[in-house]
Amino acid sequence: MEIIRDNIEEFYITVRLIIKRYFLIFKFTSTIFIIFIVVFLFVGRLNKEPKKERTYYKYNDNFYKLIKNKILFPYAMTKEKVVTLTFDDGPSTKYRPLILKILKKEKIKATFFDLGWKLEENPVLAQRTIKEGHEIANHTYSHRTLTKLSFIKKKLELRMTQKAIFNVTGEQNHLFRPPGGIYDAETTTVAKNLGLITVLWTTDPGDYHSDNPVLSPSPEFIKLKVNYTIFPGGIILLHDGTDKTIEVLPGIIQNLKKLGYKFVKVSELIELDSKK
Ligand SMILES: [Zn+2]
Repeated sequence: MEIIRDNIEEFYITVRLIIKRYFLIFKFTSTIFIIFIVVFLFVGRLNKEPKKERTYYKYNDNFYKLIKNKILFPYAMTKEKVVTLTFDDGPSTKYRPLILKILKKEKIKATFFDLGWKLEENPVLAQRTIKEGHEIANHTYSHRTLTKLSFIKKKLELRMTQKAIFNVTGEQNHLFRPPGGIYDAETTTVAKNLGLITVLWTTDPGDYHSDNPVLSPSPEFIKLKVNYTIFPGGIILLHDGTDKTIEVLPGIIQNLKKLGYKFVKVSELIELDSKK
């Protein structure tokens, strides 16, 4: 009996020891695991690329060097009261005829930064745009953020659109605007190699937020923003694709006319800038 009891006690002691050891091992491995996760997250944060900024806000030496070398055109340095209206993302079958109608009524010429695939779908509308005295420029083929694309893909986006513009207008285009105004050194190099100057803007009234009730500025706000942010040689960003643009466009034009501004195309603004 005594022997059996001893054996049982020994058995319990062994089991307790095993449990204790395994518990210690478990504690040890889980601590290592937690340390590993923390280090991994920290290193991950360090390696994370900084959020891409809209490069046109970076008024640094490189920005001015690009302007000086006629690679980048953000606005014209002029005292003449001239501005340019630009319309991005078309040609849209719904909105382009409405924009053209307003421009014709106001006797104004503008610049349209069109997408390659839309030009291929709406050649007649694009030809009408040219016939009415406006200019069509390159806004890439499919409106992808260029900084996320490889050099080859960037080139393809711009070249395909150049081809689409040439097929419609019969003329070689020299103007390009990156989607969202987001570009990097590779983008401006690709554009330059294709004979294109990268055009930005100075006034962005926010007409493209028309479907978002939170972000959507009122028509009055849009018109006021143009009035308060415009300056001679400035470029206004509008869109060929929203109801709001059509709603605010006559008011924007009339207000600017009242302030004494004349309207020119981007190519004319660049010419004016080089005469300074
Ligand atoms: Zn765009």
